[in-house]
Amino acid sequence: MSVKKLVILPDARLRQISAPITGVDKALRAFVDDMFETMYDAPGIGLAAIQVGEPKRLFTLDVSKREDNREPLVVINPEITWKSDEKNTYEEGCLSIPEYYEEVERPARVRLKYRDIDFVERELEADGLLATCIQHELDHLNGVLFIDHISKLKRDRVIKKFTKLAKRDDEA
Ligand code: ZN
Repeated sequence: MSVKKLVILPDARLRQISAPITGVDKALRAFVDDMFETMYDAPGIGLAAIQVGEPKRLFTLDVSKREDNREPLVVINPEITWKSDEKNTYEEGCLSIPEYYEEVERPARVRLKYRDIDFVERELEADGLLATCIQHELDHLNGVLFIDHISKLKRDRVIKKFTKLAKRDDEA
């Protein structure tokens, strides 16, 4: 297993639409192991494949926030089949936008259809932090970032800041 390099804003890959996965083989299992290692190392509670540079419809999650009682979840080819009208607001962050947090309003509950690591079709209904996290990660598969859900003023400001940082790193 290895920790992968994270793709950071304003990298254009974050705007790419990820492609469906057609099956799970040994290589994909190894890749998922690397994603978990990268996510726990960061540390983060969710990671989409594109955040380590792979445009695949896959993300890993663990909202338990407990090292002694992990609840890893692998989500392949997800589809939200229902959203509640009721909304919930969480302060969100993203491993691709380090140390930036902003409140985002999203549906409070969602129903998700997906495939697990054995490529078996599953369904789950989520609320609370898990529901927010699922929507945040699914957005990544469509090239959408949580900053797309905040005001344009705030979004432009954070993009500008990260563009400047990336430029400085290039020149260094
Ligand atoms: Zn994210």
